[in-house]
Amino acid sequence: MSPPVQASVESDRLREALEAFGHRFTEQRGAVHRFLAGTDTHPTAEEVFHGVRAQLPAISLATVYKNLETLVGCGMAIKLSYSDGSSRYDGRTDPHHHARCNRCGAVMDVPGSLPTEMMTASDVCPGFHVTGYRLEFTGVCASCA
Ligand SMILES: [Zn+2]
Ligand SMILES: [Zn+2]
Repeated sequence: MSPPVQASVESDRLREALEAFGHRFTEQRGAVHRFLAGTDTHPTAEEVFHGVRAQLPAISLATVYKNLETLVGCGMAIKLSYSDGSSRYDGRTDPHHHARCNRCGAVMDVPGSLPTEMMTASDVCPGFHVTGYRLEFTGVCASCA
């Protein structure tokens, strides 16, 4: 049985991105990316580990960490780092914002992006070359309210 077309297009895209940055496509990297791309909960590395272990029982948390960093390095995932030292990963790399619940820590996607003019504005900070931005809404989610 051949895999669904969508899945193979997705793994071709991952393979190309990895190879462009000098990394090999491995079954483990594929599984980590598939798990991330299939969820919108912005999981922690531990959550990715638990999800991927169902398919690849031999995978270690350390490998999941390394594979996540590799995916971030080649632009196939985004790392959201927080001031308490925790990090979450996002398989969605198109422009979007996040809303984070102050009570349960849930992170939700918020569609939209800032106008391009703001990204190139020279008055963002004198001499600063803007390559991206991060906008996070904070508050209380529907289940905590
Ligand atoms: Zn909440
Ligand atoms: Zn997101």
